[in-house]
Amino acid sequence: MKNSAKISKELIAPCGMNCAVCSAYMAFKYNLKNKGVKMPYCTGCRLRDKQCAFLKKRCDLLLNKKVKYCYECKDFPCTKLQHIDERYRTLYRMSMIENLQYIKKKGIKEFLTSEEEKWKCPKCGGIICCHNGICFKCGLEKLKKKKKLYRWKDD
Ligand code: SF4
Ligand code: SF4
Ligand SMILES: [Zn+2]
Repeated sequence: MKNSAKISKELIAPCGMNCAVCSAYMAFKYNLKNKGVKMPYCTGCRLRDKQCAFLKKRCDLLLNKKVKYCYECKDFPCTKLQHIDERYRTLYRMSMIENLQYIKKKGIKEFLTSEEEKWKCPKCGGIICCHNGICFKCGLEKLKKKKKLYRWKDD
């Protein structure tokens, strides 16, 4: 059994997204542009000090860093968060709201361990991307052939 790759707590965004499994972070980490795959780069929500456009632009609390995680907000889970959560549950096999509830209940350390297990590549121990199910470390050829980069299935 391969050891799973470690995920830093800095990669867990206020909205509950795990940037480590996001295609934009993974594209940046593995420098995909130099490997013939065009996908936007992002260094992660907290690290680049900007949240994803989808929530930040629409939330003053996140914009002004009034909350560390959305569960600290009195409106949690607000409709904006519910909306994106629904999309991620349907298409990307994860839920920001569940992630946040987990962190609130069990703490960030335990959450990171469970995420490392959940997204572990069975072949190389790397990380599977939530947007398409591919490990960017050992699945580069798969990624190059992928028709829909933001779906698990091509059909
Ligand atoms: S695009 Fe959003 S989810 Fe992806 S790495 Fe950047 S901040 Fe994180
Ligand atoms: S739960 Fe609160 S902090 Fe998070 S996006 Fe919604 S309004 Fe903003
Ligand atoms: Zn792999």
